[in-house]
Amino acid sequence: MMVGAGWRWGMFKEPIFRDRVAVITGGGTGLGLAFALRFSELGARVTLASRDSSHLEPARAEICRRGGQALAVPTDVRIPEQVENMVRETLRCFGRLDILINNAAGNFLCKAEKLSYNGWRSVVDIVLNGSFYCSRAALEPMKIQRYGRILNILATYATGASPGTVHSCAAKAGVLAMTRTLAVEWARYNVHVNAVAPGMFPTEGASSRLMPAPGAGERALQRIPAGRAGRHEELANLAAFLCSDYADYINGESVTIDGGASWNYPGFEWENL
Ligand code: NAP
Repeated sequence: MMVGAGWRWGMFKEPIFRDRVAVITGGGTGLGLAFALRFSELGARVTLASRDSSHLEPARAEICRRGGQALAVPTDVRIPEQVENMVRETLRCFGRLDILINNAAGNFLCKAEKLSYNGWRSVVDIVLNGSFYCSRAALEPMKIQRYGRILNILATYATGASPGTVHSCAAKAGVLAMTRTLAVEWARYNVHVNAVAPGMFPTEGASSRLMPAPGAGERALQRIPAGRAGRHEELANLAAFLCSDYADYINGESVTIDGGASWNYPGFEWENL
């Protein structure tokens, strides 16, 4: 597991998620695991939901080893019945569901003209449909509690374009539209829906699928004004803030976290002026 040394918590000094229960889809790997560890550290009991028990289980064990409480529920977010079962299991184990992070995703490089219909469907199913199924299922307990915080994980290209991953780009844009719409519809239940749009946060999944070419990571880094990739704890802290009571008046927003990369217009060679 890649977490451990180098984590610099400390933005919050109290367990802001004491008594809260958080579901994190894709919580067994990469950024999902970073959210799970951080939210657990801040007092939340967490459900990790994804398809593959071989990383869900070690992630659950790691959270427990650190003194947290976690449940792993094998779930394919593309299948509504499995999503509903995961919510039921969370309620059975923890009694409530306060926070949902729609983090699960699939992505791969392919030119649109070569993309198979199955490839398109698969990514849209996980990212867009899966986020809706999870949100819809989580709403039921949240409505009864009159409390819920949903955080959708986008990508900076959700508001732009992403040549080479049109499937993911379109799906994330759909999730952004859903974020804003559900924020308005569900505010009456005190259920808030926000999003974060990360830039480059190296994970095994993202690096292997999206930057397989030699030197691709280094070239991508050069376009980031901050001069470095994002750190998992920086993203996890932003997610924690947006799901906390400190963000009670933020609803339907997407916050970009990319070291300024979105504003780095490539048109002019200004560095040597
Ligand atoms: P990752 O480790 O590959 O995470 C993807 C997760 O989604 C895995 O845990 C996977 O677990 C789960 N998943 C895939 N299909 C699923 C399905 N059908 N049902 C349930 N779970 C499923 O990649 P990551 O880099 O941490 O990405 C996490 C999120 O951040 C994604 O939404 C991604 O788009 C977003 N993001 C990442 C970056 C970055 O630089 N890393 C940048 C922008 C946005 P299973 O295989 O067990 O199902």
